Amino acid sequence: MKSISLVWTDTVDDLEVRFGLAAVQEIVNSLQVISFRRGLFQAAPIVNVFGNWVIPALPQGSDYSSLQWYVDNSYDHERSRVIGAKLLDLILNEPWQRSGAHYDVMMIGDNLVPSTENRPEYEALALSMPGRATVVSMAPLHKINDDRVRLFVVRRVVGHQLGHLFGIPRAQRPGAISQTPGERHCPNLCAMRDADDLDALVGMTLEELEAHILLCADCWQDLLQIMVDSYHGMN
Ligand SMILES: [Zn+2]
Ligand SMILES: [Zn+2]
Repeated sequence: MKSISLVWTDTVDDLEVRFGLAAVQEIVNSLQVISFRRGLFQAAPIVNVFGNWVIPALPQGSDYSSLQWYVDNSYDHERSRVIGAKLLDLILNEPWQRSGAHYDVMMIGDNLVPSTENRPEYEALALSMPGRATVVSMAPLHKINDDRVRLFVVRRVVGHQLGHLFGIPRAQRPGAISQTPGERHCPNLCAMRDADDLDALVGMTLEELEAHILLCADCWQDLLQIMVDSYHGMN
């Protein structure tokens, strides 16, 4: 089974990191508990927390010598944004993805835009490539004035993107809402619902918090199935 690598740049503040990590931890732990109850062992991926890593043995600024190198090499100074497609490309071609495919979860503090084709002022919250990598930008969330609310939104967004990374809801699920190819959303009270804008995102986050729900029962079921299939080499 693929492991999860968790990384973040130094432009993400400590509390944002903590709430982002909490989402990953909560999903992985719950998956372990659910699978254990059903008599399945090791149905949750191993999480490797690498943070803002540097390889001191490599010359500074050389290819793949630090996490910051990825950001520096996908940054468009004219737009003041990280070009998401470029960043995903660097991740997919890194020596570590080539030698052992894994799930990459990256949190950045910089503004993110999916590609150079987007309008220059466009800001994306995240960009995911299912099965491989997700990049989450904290920048759009800084418009949320209430710090406590903002941190719970960070947790929700990281949880949502982890869901996309794993591929939930599954395409086979009746009721799964398909939008762009490969990106599906959930119709239930669940962090896999799609939010059109920041206000909707905040509203959904608070609603889910109040109901003590991160993922709905259908999404847990889908997630468990995906993990079991990957464990048995069916993916
Ligand atoms: Zn989504
Ligand atoms: Zn759901």
